[in-house]
Formats: sequence, C-alpha cells, structure tokens
Amino acid sequence: MLTREELELLRNKLIEEKNKLLERYKKMEDTQARIEEEVKEPRDLEDISQMTYTQELLDSLSAREFFIIKEIDHALNKIQAGTYGICEYCGEEIPLERLMAIPWTRYHAHCAEKAEEDGIVPTYPAFTFEATLPEDMEIQREDITEA
Ligand SMILES: [Zn+2]
Repeated sequence: MLTREELELLRNKLIEEKNKLLERYKKMEDTQARIEEEVKEPRDLEDISQMTYTQELLDSLSAREFFIIKEIDHALNKIQAGTYGICEYCGEEIPLERLMAIPWTRYHAHCAEKAEEDGIVPTYPAFTFEATLPEDMEIQREDITEA
C-alpha cells in the first residue's frame, strides 16, 4: 500500500507533469501558428515539404501529449477514488519505483505488454519523437473509458 506521503508525492508529480505538458502544448500551438504564417509565403518547394513534415511532427506529438494529459487526469481521478497504484490489468499493486518513473501508468510493465497484446490500451512509457499515434486510437480509448 502507498503511504499518504507517497501518494501526495505522486499526485504532485502528476500535476507538475500535466502543467509541463500543457505548457509544451501551448508552445507547439505558437509554433503551429508561425508555420501557418510561413505557409502563406512559401519560398520554394523544399520549404513547403519541410513545413509539411514539421506540421505532421507537431500533429503526432500533440496527439501524444494529449493522450498523456488524459492518462494523467485518469490517474488523478484514481487517486480521488482510492484506486491509484492498482494495476488495471491484474488488480495487484504496482511497485512504487514504477509509479515514480511513470506516475500515470495503469499497469505493471509486464501487464502493460499483455494489455497491449490484447489490444486493450497502448502505453507510452517515455517521450520519444519517433512514435506515431495510430489514427483509430482515440476511438479505442473512448470505448475502454466508457466500459
Ligand atoms: Zn499487473
């Protein structure tokens, strides 16, 4: 069981991370606005393809950040409900070390893999620029939340 102090620490981490993401999200919006500004006056074809690439990168990144913001909200709700730190896959407690590393995680590392294999939910243990979000993920996630 998590102690009050541990729970409080994790809650602060979640809120801090969420604020950071929102900040980054805002910055991305600024960048996006700047790109749109540049698109109005493209210098040459290479510029255009570079801008499209950047735009796509921003799109996938913002979808990803949005996903994690939602996971953080979910974790905060679970803290309120008193179910935080319990693996949603096997129902056992998630070790504190994992929660400290990924405070919004729903699963044990091994359960996350199984959940992913089962197609229950995609997980993003860390921020990377390479990952892209499948188009249909948003829908899948909604289905789970409502179930
Ligand atoms: Zn588990």
